[in-house]
Amino acid sequence: MKILLGAHVSVAGGLANACLHARNTASNAIQIFTKNQLQWSAKELDDSFKRCVLKDELTVVAHLSYLVNLGSTEESVREKSVAAAINEIKRCRLLGIKSLIFHPGSNKHLTEEETMRQIALNLSEILKQTEESGDVSLVLETTAGQGNQIGYKSEHIAKIIELLEGSIRLGVCIDTCHIFAAGYDIRTLRAYNKYMDDFDNIIGLDRLRAIHINDSLKPLGSKVDRHASIGKGYIGPDAFGFIMNDKRLEGIPLIVETPGSDDEHKIDLDILKGMIRK
Ligand SMILES: [Zn+2]
Ligand SMILES: [Zn+2]
Repeated sequence: MKILLGAHVSVAGGLANACLHARNTASNAIQIFTKNQLQWSAKELDDSFKRCVLKDELTVVAHLSYLVNLGSTEESVREKSVAAAINEIKRCRLLGIKSLIFHPGSNKHLTEEETMRQIALNLSEILKQTEESGDVSLVLETTAGQGNQIGYKSEHIAKIIELLEGSIRLGVCIDTCHIFAAGYDIRTLRAYNKYMDDFDNIIGLDRLRAIHINDSLKPLGSKVDRHASIGKGYIGPDAFGFIMNDKRLEGIPLIVETPGSDDEHKIDLDILKGMIRK
């Protein structure tokens, strides 16, 4: 089976550096932030990055800035968030990136139901204003539920998708650290399969666009989002073995967002590769 595996890498010093990190870690997939790159020249957007991605046959996903909050009702934050998302979708299109991953959003003044409606409202505006970038998916990431965050239950994500009439441009990213901190146990094969089967029933595995493979520094149900290196946290190695051998995940980018840079990521990725049964 075709496994797409890599890390969240830095684009400091230029977008094409992402390809160097991919080579350093022997990866065929990467995640990047497309933000903070106001210094990018049009040439760089068009040329070097796309060329090295093509040459190295990399699958690239992007992560939206953490500053964006689509749950906000505060007009200045809401406006900035919508504008930033629209900009990044356009940038993804220019770069040939098909998935833009983001955390759904939060709002401490609203109920969860109201926050989901607010997120859907903002997303519908974003979708409308980026119709020409229709091949870029907006990918909702599961969250740990820290501080009023929506997305710590599969049902939240399903609800937002439903409010947007099941737009085909919406996808989902599972983050193992986040779901574990949110209370979903995946440490036994039985528990892992239950999570995946429920995900399929509630959201649909056809919506899955990426998996963030992170161990968790905090225990099950802690609602605290702290990533740990593979096998060094409360999730432990077994769950990652289930993922690496799950045929349903063929062709889905598996991305580690663990602490450290290339050397540490290479260790994590090698551990994961070592779990693949021949
Ligand atoms: Zn994330
Ligand atoms: Zn993540």
